[in-house]
Amino acid sequence: MTTIRGFQPYRRAALVLQAVIILGLPFLKIRGESAVRFDLPSLRLHFFGRALWIQEFFVVLIALLFFTFLILLVTLLFGRIWCGWLCPQTALTYLTEFAGQPAAKNLIRNIASYAGVFGVSLLVGANLIWYFVTPAEFFTRLLSDNLGPAITWAWSLLTIVLFADLAFIRHRFCATVCPYSRMQSTLFDSRTMVIAFDMQRSAECMDCAACVRTCPVGIDIRKGLSPACVSCAQCVDACAERLAKKDRQGLIGYFFGLPGQGIGFMRRNVLLVSAVTLSLMVFLVLLASGRQTLDMTVMPAHNFPPRITTDGKIINAYLIAFENRGSNALQVHLSALPAPASQTSIALNPATIMVRAGEHKTATVFAEMRDVPQHNSTVTFTLSADYGAAEQKPLLRKAVFAVPGKP
Ligand code: SF4
Ligand code: SF4
Repeated sequence: MTTIRGFQPYRRAALVLQAVIILGLPFLKIRGESAVRFDLPSLRLHFFGRALWIQEFFVVLIALLFFTFLILLVTLLFGRIWCGWLCPQTALTYLTEFAGQPAAKNLIRNIASYAGVFGVSLLVGANLIWYFVTPAEFFTRLLSDNLGPAITWAWSLLTIVLFADLAFIRHRFCATVCPYSRMQSTLFDSRTMVIAFDMQRSAECMDCAACVRTCPVGIDIRKGLSPACVSCAQCVDACAERLAKKDRQGLIGYFFGLPGQGIGFMRRNVLLVSAVTLSLMVFLVLLASGRQTLDMTVMPAHNFPPRITTDGKIINAYLIAFENRGSNALQVHLSALPAPASQTSIALNPATIMVRAGEHKTATVFAEMRDVPQHNSTVTFTLSADYGAAEQKPLLRKAVFAVPGKP
């Protein structure tokens, strides 16, 4: 008799690992902040030691677009692998399996099961809130009875929705509510990986119905593919176990298209979606690597035309916009140099400006040239600051220094 280990131990390990990561991430601190948290008061996303401000959310949109295409690609190649192995709904349904089949006649056991599911719902509801309010702040406010109406309502609502889902809806969610399950039939093609019954060996089926009994959504996979299948592979293991007693291979398995066909990665739709996914990934990496803590834009201040003072100096005014995308206030140092050929110097006022974390600040800066040039010339503004660990090269911006009455 062949011993069968099956997919379930690996699948359970993947689901438990995922639950541990989701529960644990808010407790993981990087540079003094939760690894992943959206801070509502400052509209700032903390992501593994980086802070993204709301004005930079196009990066998040590109990241979401990348993950959408990645999921499309994975679905096209591996079907509902996400549903069976990675989906949080599947993980929670698995972790609350004790409530899946309440014993109708055992009131005490039913109450205990539902109380357990309620406890899990409370914990998962709080866990979702920790992605917005740090666990430390949450527990401090909870223990001092000062959660506030917003957190209390959000936590209550999440707990009720999760309890209804985990206690009553469970796997029916996948077949009825989940938009991904609705969408995927349009993504599958004839070579997408599916769990299927090997029709070529149908004569070997013992009609034991072990595959049907174990199926969480009550499908008989022998009758063909069903959109309700969550790709959990329980039927694969059940059949393999039965047939192992006769030293034969199971009749249900993962197949790329029809049983007997091989993996076909070089399909036109796969190549197309791969190209888009790869392009988005490259774009995202370029965006992330080119991100600067501090940015500056220089424009002439039109409400202060260039002028010559009585002692012959020329003054220009500029509107300089600063954007501090870091987590700390920065003391910004400004300097300006005329075109390389010129020997004149330029004095700026003010030359030092404080920009708070996340602040968009516009300041009027006066530039004074002592030796009057004959024509309008180009000035290069240089911005530097003490960035601490996240060092950044000085920023250079060019602007025109206008001489009154000259072209
Ligand atoms: S048919 Fe098999 S893989 Fe699909 S849901 Fe049922 S047991 Fe899981
Ligand atoms: S478990 Fe295998 S042998 Fe038993 S009914 Fe299902 S397909 Fe047939």
